[in-house]
Parts: sequence; structure tokens; C-alpha cells
Amino acid sequence: MKTVIIGGVAAGMSAATRLRRLQEDAQIIVFEMGPNVSYANCGLPYFVSDVISDRSALLLQTPQSLFNRFRLDVRVSHKVTAINPVAKTVTVENLLTGESFDETYDNLVIATGARPRHLDIPGIDRAMTLRDVVDADRVKAAVQAAGPNASAVVLGAGFIGVELAENLAHLGANTTLIQRGGSILSQFDAEMVEPLQAHLVANGVNLVVNATPHEVTANKVILADGREFAADVVFSATGVVPDNKLAVDAGLKLGATGGLWVDAQQRTSDPHIYAAGDAVEKQGSLVGAPVIVPLANLANRHGRLIADAIAGLDTAAKPAIGTIIIGAFGMAAALTGLSERAAVKAGIPHRVIHVHPGSHAGYYPGAQRVSLKVLFDPTTGRLLGAQGVGMDGVDKRIDVLATAITAGLTVDDLMDLELAYAPQFGSAKDPINHAGYVGNNVLHGVTPSIQWHQLEREMANGRILVDVRTEAENGRGTIPGAINIPVDSLREHLEELVGQQVVVTCQVGQRGHTATQILRGNGIDVVNLDGGYVTWRAAMDGLVRFTQRP
Ligand code: FAD
Repeated sequence: MKTVIIGGVAAGMSAATRLRRLQEDAQIIVFEMGPNVSYANCGLPYFVSDVISDRSALLLQTPQSLFNRFRLDVRVSHKVTAINPVAKTVTVENLLTGESFDETYDNLVIATGARPRHLDIPGIDRAMTLRDVVDADRVKAAVQAAGPNASAVVLGAGFIGVELAENLAHLGANTTLIQRGGSILSQFDAEMVEPLQAHLVANGVNLVVNATPHEVTANKVILADGREFAADVVFSATGVVPDNKLAVDAGLKLGATGGLWVDAQQRTSDPHIYAAGDAVEKQGSLVGAPVIVPLANLANRHGRLIADAIAGLDTAAKPAIGTIIIGAFGMAAALTGLSERAAVKAGIPHRVIHVHPGSHAGYYPGAQRVSLKVLFDPTTGRLLGAQGVGMDGVDKRIDVLATAITAGLTVDDLMDLELAYAPQFGSAKDPINHAGYVGNNVLHGVTPSIQWHQLEREMANGRILVDVRTEAENGRGTIPGAINIPVDSLREHLEELVGQQVVVTCQVGQRGHTATQILRGNGIDVVNLDGGYVTWRAAMDGLVRFTQRP
């Protein structure tokens, strides 16, 4: 059997190498239009800044090494220009010689990835993109040519835009990051990315949100509202779209998302053509509808799955949840499953909790706050999504939560996870368990809570806000309209509160929980402000950033 693969990176190369391991006698040809195969796209932003200084580290394999170990016939600089499903051939152009030829297949794998989306504005041609090693070489050369104090503008603050901004700032460039939406990383909820936004700004990135690029000129970027930003170099990172022109021209079915439609065995609407990776839409497990998830994990997994399917193994893709992590200047932000924004948009009922525990035991040096937001079903408690942000320990918490969501666990189950603990790694009550305790209280009505965005309405409806932190903490900043009654003296002030409707708040929600229980035990109508002052402050700072103008 002869399998032809279009695209020689994540999905394509996973399919090729797995197929060889399963079938020693299979004929496998990989066509890759670029000069490299199996390169590390995720490392490209770090190569630009020399954090990864050894270019060869990005090139994980060569056609020769793939031949030596796997007897793969990998042809770089070969672009597939057409798929002919009836004849079961592809038309290929050798980009070095200009020669064109047809290649037959028994099975075809489309792994063409995603291409950068471009804004339709004057001068956008000057903006560079970052998709492969050739782009990275070009970007690095341009930044070096611009000199150490160059001005750089990055259009788009998705994960590639943010990573580029970080690495340009590392190089000493005066970097402006422009985002059309109200906050960076649009998959996240605004209050969860605000710490990362503040961290970018603190590290010298000029972050401009709620901004519409209007024109790129020879030396600047101009916004629709007239603001101008110096730009010796400009980058376009305004998202990616499935690279599926070949498939469309061949008459293969597209999904509603614009990604290529595939079944659970990654088979397209033609039974001899498979597809995986960024070109393809995935079944979303949480929204019950197809989703676009342009990430490396699923590209590798589904590429491998194609080989299993071709080899006749019993296999099926599991619905995707979408798990992302991004780092900048030492801070990480991560998401798995649904954000609150996505749940609202999809009309999925949910409850939300925020917690802000330490990344490990507070008495051991170096603990940092790790902020987690967890969404769960209000009836069953089934986990729907989670986000995390902080300087330490975000990655492992989001991975535990991703595993829990995949396994169909509930927020109650988080209490019972027996997670590794020694003081330098975690806590006896790990942040994951902590989220479980808080979620359990909310799910079962032990501690009624409200979200930061409900506070204004609750106060307008007559609830009084009681800040139960210490006087000193209150003095360092509180929510307007709050009266300060520290939790330890709350029982002495019950008479002032009897008959009132109350919201309590503290720093992170924990003392608020205790205060809520005290007041409830004394017959007072009370709710806790979920996540306390820390969550509220992040949300307000994000809103201010959204509306600010110079
Ligand atoms: P790709 O890996 O993009 O490979 C597609 C290949 O197909 C390309 O090499 C292309 O040249 C080739 N091709 C296209 N059309 C043709 C044709 N007609 N003929 C021949 N060859 C063709 N994901 C993460 O999960 N984490 C990260 O940190 C992360 N960082 C990233 C940083 C950058 C800068 C980029 C660009 C992507 C990043 N990603 C990250 C996304 C991740 O790289 C992709 O999800 C993954 O590579 C998709 O795999 P794929 O095989 O579908 O496509």
C-alpha cells in the first residue's frame, strides 16, 4: 500500500513514522513545500530572540535521518498543487526545478496546517508572519538589521503575538502589542489575563487593547482612532485559518467552522483521504459542536491515529477540550475546556469559582500566588473548564484539570485527588483540592457566592458590602462602598448587620467564606464575593485598560 502525505511537520510526520512502525512494507512518501521537515514551530519565537540560539535545535529531523530510521521518502521543496480524488493522484511541483509531476496513492493524508490570517489594511504587506523556520530566519534578520533600539509593532495578541512581543522586548526592541479586542488571548476571560497583561506592561511592552489597525506605513502603524506607533519592524499575528485550499479544490467537505470535515478516524468525505492538524476541525466535547483547535498536541495525536486507521487498528478520535498554555517574562497563563465567555456564548449553564492559593507551602521559600478559575455544571458539578495564571505551578494545575475534564470528573472529585506533596512542590491542600473545596461549597449551597460582575447590581439592589480583611489590608485598597469589619470582630458587630442583605469580601474569598458562615449562622442574608478583592481588582484593572486612551 502506498500512502502519500502532504505536509511534513506535526500531523504529517506523526502519521508517517507511526505508519512505518506498524507496517514495515508500506510505501510512504511525504511532500513538504518548505525546505525543512519536522521542525519545531513552537520554538520559533524563542529563536528570534536567541533564547534558542542554536538554529539546528529547531530542526528535529532531516529527510536523510527519516530515511535512515524509517525508510520514509521525504521530499522537501515539493509543493502539492492539486489532489485528483478520482484518479487517486496528487500533482506535485518541485520548487527547486519547476518540474511538475503526478504521484499516485492508495491513501492520502492532508496535513497542511494553518496559514496566517492577514488584516485587509493598506501597507499590511510590510508585516512579517511567523509560521516556519524560513519565516523565523527572515524575522530574525529584520530585527537584527533594525538595530538594538528598534521599534517593533506586533498586530494581534493571540499566543503567537504575545510570544513574539516578549521575545522582541528581550532583544531590546521598543515593542508595541496591538489587540483589537478588550484583552489579550481572546480564549481567556478578561480577569484571568489581566495579571499577564500587567506583567507584559511591567516588562516594557506597550500594550494597546481595544484598538483597530488602520494602516501600516514605511515607519509606523496607524490606528483607526488616529494613534500612531513607531514601527521599524511590523508583525502580523492576527490568527490563523485552516490551510485547506487543496482540499476545497478537490471537492472535499468542509465543516461549519471552515476547517476540513473528518470522521472519528480522521477520514475526510473521500474514504481514501485522511486529514489531521490545524487544517481540520475537531469535535468539541464540551460544546457538542465542531471546534477549531490549532494546537500541536492534537495535530500529533490525530496524525498518529491516521496511521492506526490506515493499518486497520480499531481507533477513534476523542472529542477535544482544547488546552493552551503561554508564558511571558516568567508568568504563565493556561486554559483548558470552556472559558466563562465561551460557556455564555454557547448557552451552557455553569457556575464559577476563583481561588488564589500559593503554588506551594507558604512556609517554604519561593511560593507564588497561583490564580485558578474553574467552571462546572450547576446541577451535576461536572467540570467544564479552567484557567490559571501565575509565576509558578500553573502548568501542573492546568494539566490536572485538563485530565479531570477529560475523565468527566466533578468539582467535588477535585477534593479527593491525592496529589503529590512536599513543601517545595505543593501543599497538603493543593490548589486543585482547594478549588474542589470552594466548588463543593458553592455547588451544594453551603456558601452562596456572587461574581465580580454581579457586585454592582447587588449593591444597587440594596446589599451592603462588608470587607472582612484587617484595617491595614483595607487601607491598601478596597472596593468602593465597602465597610470594614475584620472577620475576627464580626461577631461583635452582628447587631449592625441583622436585617440587612450583605455581600462579604476579603482578599481571595477564604475569609469571606468564614464570614459568610458566621453571618448565615446568625440568620443574616449573605453572599460571598467569589475570589475576593484579588479577582475584583484584576477585573477592574482589565476594564480600565480596555477603556483607556492616551
Ligand atoms: P504544521 O505543523 O504547520 O505543518 C504543515 C506543513 O504543511 C507546513 O510545513 C507546510 O509547509 C506544509 N504544506 C502546506 N501546504 C502544502 C502543500 N500544498 N504541499 C506541501 N506541503 C505543504 N501549538 C502549541 O500547542 N503550543 C505552542 O506553544 C505553539 N506555538 C506555536 C508557535 C508558532 C510560531 C506557530 C507557528 C505555531 C505554534 N503552535 C503551538 C501551533 C502548532 O505548531 C500547530 O498546531 C501544529 O504545528 C499543527 O500541525 P500541522 O501538522 O497541522 O501543521
